[in-house]
Amino acid sequence: MTESRQVVIIGSGPAGLTAAIYAARAQLAPLVIEGEPSSTSDQPGGQLMLTTDVENYPGFVSGIMGPELMSAFREQAARFGADYVTAKASRVDLSRRPFSVWVGDPDAEEPTYSAESLIISTGAQSLMLNVPNEERLVGYGVSTCATCDGFFFRQRDIAVVGGGDSALEEALFLTRFADKVTVIHRRGELRASKVMQQRAFKNDKIEFLWNTSVVDVLGDTTVSGLRVRDNQSEEESDLKVAGLFVAIGHEPNTSLFKGQLEMEENGYLRTFDGTRTNVDGVFACGDVQDHRYRQAVTAAGSGCMAALDAERWLEDQAAAR
Ligand code: NAP
Repeated sequence: MTESRQVVIIGSGPAGLTAAIYAARAQLAPLVIEGEPSSTSDQPGGQLMLTTDVENYPGFVSGIMGPELMSAFREQAARFGADYVTAKASRVDLSRRPFSVWVGDPDAEEPTYSAESLIISTGAQSLMLNVPNEERLVGYGVSTCATCDGFFFRQRDIAVVGGGDSALEEALFLTRFADKVTVIHRRGELRASKVMQQRAFKNDKIEFLWNTSVVDVLGDTTVSGLRVRDNQSEEESDLKVAGLFVAIGHEPNTSLFKGQLEMEENGYLRTFDGTRTNVDGVFACGDVQDHRYRQAVTAAGSGCMAALDAERWLEDQAAAR
């Protein structure tokens, strides 16, 4: 049987859970489809579940662990009446209202939920190298966020992999802390903009390892080095570093909405006038629509905006009836 809700939120990172806090306090009894614990892209709590200390979320003087912060968000929304389902949304139909959302079998005739309004906060994921030991050491030397984790590598030698603007931006930022930052790029030429290249080439702390791929991450409990391969000679060697920052791009989790919601060229959801999407009654917040800031605090802020936008939209619908 299909369960009806006024607000369904898909995704449970800082954006989705903040939307849940606001929607719950507005007595809209939101349902959060929070994702699946086994998945690295759709795990409940989002990308913060993959970080250790979060030191830049305002209000926590001594920092807080990412999972602890997300658990507090979750409890706070539950206290006001948010409900959770620990599963992935497998299909949505946004062509008519109320909107239909399936979890589990996407071919089931009846949708699992019908929603008067929908808030999408499915986030984005960093592309990873998919080499041995990389996933195991995420949070223990392997990171995808220099702003979050750079501080832990004071006076250490670290590596950044990637050749685009993100990699150089991360490398430049990391020189504030590290003694040496080695940028490892698989080709002999960077993809990054000229201005970023110039800045990186001028920085004494940055070295480049060209035509090189990382083939393994070394270390027992924390990263102690990398196994790298020279792509021209195919020779392998070890590079001693205390950290690896993977900066080879991000992809938004938008496959569920292809053909139904407008997206930017890079696949991020397009929002208008706050958090509205091109479908009336569907709102988007957090990293799924933001490739620029990508911070927990900006995601939380946009989650608040989405809940307020949804609340006002529902009120307008009720008034028009
Ligand atoms: P990007 O431009 O797509 O660059 C990704 C880099 O990672 C490329 O150099 C690519 O190598 C490398 N790469 C991809 N897959 C890899 C793999 N499996 N193994 C090793 N290397 C791999 O991504 P981005 O740097 O995240 O930038 C995304 C967009 O945001 C760009 O338009 C960028 O200009 C923009 N951005 C702008 C700023 C800024 O202006 N300050 C900062 C960040 C991002 P190849 O070059 O060989 O393909």
